[in-house]
Amino acid sequence: MALSPYASDELHSRGRLFAETPPRFRGEYQRDRDRVIHCGAFRRLEYKTQVFVNHEGDMFRTRLTHSLEVAQIGRSIARALALNEDLTETIALSHDLGHTPFGHAGQSALNRVMHPYGGFEHNLQSLRVVDQLEERYAEFNGLNLTFESREGILKHCSRAKAYDLGEVGRRFINNSQPSLEAQVADVADAIAYNNHDVDDGLRCGILTIEQMRHELLFNQQYDQVRRLHPKVAGRRLIHEVIRRMINAQVTDLLEESQRTLQQYHPKNSQAVRALSQPLIRFSATMEAAHQSLKQFLRQQLYSHYHVHRMTVKAQRTVEALFNAFSEDHALLPDKVQLRLQQAEAGDMVETPQRLIADYIAGMTDRYAISEYKRLFYPDEIT
Ligand code: MG
Repeated sequence: MALSPYASDELHSRGRLFAETPPRFRGEYQRDRDRVIHCGAFRRLEYKTQVFVNHEGDMFRTRLTHSLEVAQIGRSIARALALNEDLTETIALSHDLGHTPFGHAGQSALNRVMHPYGGFEHNLQSLRVVDQLEERYAEFNGLNLTFESREGILKHCSRAKAYDLGEVGRRFINNSQPSLEAQVADVADAIAYNNHDVDDGLRCGILTIEQMRHELLFNQQYDQVRRLHPKVAGRRLIHEVIRRMINAQVTDLLEESQRTLQQYHPKNSQAVRALSQPLIRFSATMEAAHQSLKQFLRQQLYSHYHVHRMTVKAQRTVEALFNAFSEDHALLPDKVQLRLQQAEAGDMVETPQRLIADYIAGMTDRYAISEYKRLFYPDEIT
């Protein structure tokens, strides 16, 4: 299918940090996507928490299934707007590669202990994974992705950090926009988690349908399903409501974005970047409903005592690991120790603390738990 004039076209890509021969039978963004799928950090997403920790049940979302849902929603939007699907998919699949174990709890704990050493930001870490940490190719560190994929992966970034990142950080300094494909992946992320967290929250019983009916997005679809299918109940009813919620949000996003694209009519992807605001967006009414649901989930689900207990435990685990490793480097595996020795000899720009944070951020939930046990339980053997 022909791309829109404002879509990212690989012919105008700003390329890769290390020049490579173009692939023969696939596009440059396809190659990026394939590299992401084959990398180790991608496989580890399977055992990283989204909201519920992995061992709470097999039906809950993990970072991996979350990323796949983001990619699915993102591709549907990209295709409908004649944007670059491969690029959208690459960004969606890689946006959480830098996430720590235990979801946001792990990330805020690591940020806190890393505060004196430059902090920890998971978007920045995702970029670090694809730029430096993956060790798969003979000629370079990382995955050597195209500029456009890297730009999309760096969804947020503090201004202070942006200065160190060169071209890819510039938009956080001069308030410009990323490609439309990056904008799509960003909104697809929000659509995915808002909806699957409702699903998971209802599944585990922390949220109830009665409670959810106070949320406009849910209630509108719920009423409609009850009217159309009065006999449908249980999980089938919930699924029917949630699929309609996703559809309503995607449809609104497409209609509103088509309108803004017509209004601004950017002549190419560079013109998109020069704008002061994103063009991929919800209507004002949908944005309000979406924000309300987000707020609701924060209060009713993420702060619920059941989730909060896990959050506190996760923070303790991450902090304890960081402190133990920082105080005694000899506790770390050989490979990390070697990197620390190189850092101390001045062969690396990174501080030892950054390398320890890399090690912890790369852990899956269960690996972090077993490292914790190995370090702190007297009867646990190596
Ligand atoms: Mg995400």
